[in-house]
Amino acid sequence: MASVSSRPTIVWFRQDLRLQDNPALAAAVARSGAVVPVFILDDAAEGRWPLGGAARWWLHHSLAALDESLRERGSRLVLARGESGTVLRELIKTTGADAVYWSRRYEPAVIARDKDLKTGLGVEAKSFNAALLFEPHTVQTKAGGPFQVFTPFWKHCLSLKVEEPVRLSLRTLPAPETWPRSLVLPELALLPKIAWDAGFTKVWEPGEAGAQKRLKQFIASAMEDYGEQRNRPDVDGTSALSPYLHFGDLGPRQVWAAVKASAKGSGIFPPSRGAQVFLSEVGWREFAHHLLFHFPHTPEAPLRTEFGAFPWRTDSKQLRAWQKGQTGYPIVDAGMRQLWMTGWMHNRVRMIVASFLVKHLRISWQAGADWFWDTLVDADLASNTLGWQWTAGCGADAAPYFRIFNPMLQGAKFDPDGAYVRRWVPELAKLPAEFIHCPWEAPLHALAAAGVVLGRDYPQPIVDHGAARAAALDALKSLKQTS
Ligand code: FAD
Repeated sequence: MASVSSRPTIVWFRQDLRLQDNPALAAAVARSGAVVPVFILDDAAEGRWPLGGAARWWLHHSLAALDESLRERGSRLVLARGESGTVLRELIKTTGADAVYWSRRYEPAVIARDKDLKTGLGVEAKSFNAALLFEPHTVQTKAGGPFQVFTPFWKHCLSLKVEEPVRLSLRTLPAPETWPRSLVLPELALLPKIAWDAGFTKVWEPGEAGAQKRLKQFIASAMEDYGEQRNRPDVDGTSALSPYLHFGDLGPRQVWAAVKASAKGSGIFPPSRGAQVFLSEVGWREFAHHLLFHFPHTPEAPLRTEFGAFPWRTDSKQLRAWQKGQTGYPIVDAGMRQLWMTGWMHNRVRMIVASFLVKHLRISWQAGADWFWDTLVDADLASNTLGWQWTAGCGADAAPYFRIFNPMLQGAKFDPDGAYVRRWVPELAKLPAEFIHCPWEAPLHALAAAGVVLGRDYPQPIVDHGAARAAALDALKSLKQTS
């Protein structure tokens, strides 16, 4: 339980940028003194993983939304930049606060920093769970260790209780007598220096209100069919809640409760197969955090240590072609361009492009993870690490390396009419569906009718699928021989 005090409490916002279901904020209000909401930009504390460019864009807008909500309640968000401990100590001094509350994060460097602050601030320092349904230290196998396979992990989780979201009904938030000095948002310099974010603004509404809108819309329109549609990048079949969940504009308890509420009347939970599959995907996010917590070296090194000796290639030209969506494989290029234009990519396509990088090009998963880190608005150390190690075959419960996605077949299966490719690779928009995923197979007259000259309007494939596949399998074989 949190203490009671008439002195101010600092609520240190991090990846919990919301007022509802925020137990740190609720506990601060319950203490009965003033509340000082603070955000500190502290890149050094993130270790090897300071926020990437797209995530910084999201953060900027999410902080603006949080500040607006606070101001509607007579409060505001104090912004600072620097070493968190130094900033917090200064704020404790200037506000007279006798407690600092925050929501827990699970990245290894952040855990180490927070642990120091728990004992080093000289006032009550308390952390809460706002980010997960099942925190990693509360879940273990019968033998007492961490899970490494998703299905038993999730089965076990489903036997545990999911807490209700913490509701806070709040017209005003008690403000301190004088507000400490704050930076203004542009001083955090979170927005990109190049005009890269024009497409982001069209797609996203960062912040708590945007998250609630998106959640309601998904539950009403797409959740029921999620089981069938979630692999189709050409339809709006998934929730697109990942950046909201990452930054805590929305919490997973709120997602759980909203799905539950949608079942009202029937009493059946989950209310549909779609809802069940959707919640298990939220479970993958939990699993990712579980793995990162128990295997903190995995953002940089493979969980399966034998992959440390994999003969990755370095090829900056091909890496660049992949990043730019210029590989000559339409589904890969569509995904990489969607990422660049919107800061997000459909999960099925993330798997296809990641597989292409680590198998067709044999460029390391770490190089791919770095690019995603910089370009995803939902860049998340736990989920990104899991996604890349899963695809490269070197993580927990991963797809084996020898299973190599065929980009043409994946395209034909999950984007059958080519609508997704046509949207993101407009130079191919007029190609008939039978050639949209393999333009090099189109006869010259079909290319001419579509206005495409390969090598001029759209690249020839940068690698041959069959040869690349064989080379990837050879590389795997060489790894087996050395291990
Ligand atoms: P939905 O299908 O609506 O799922 C609901 C929520 O469940 C998502 O918002 C997300 O929080 C969670 N979720 C769904 N699938 C996964 C998954 N496979 N792993 C972990 N959580 C999942 N997700 C990130 O949030 N950040 C990342 O940095 C990230 N990097 C990835 C890298 C690779 C190579 C791959 C293959 C996947 C990565 N993912 C990442 C997982 C997944 O692609 C996204 O979470 C998903 O596409 C987000 O879209 P959505 O919100 O519509 O998901």
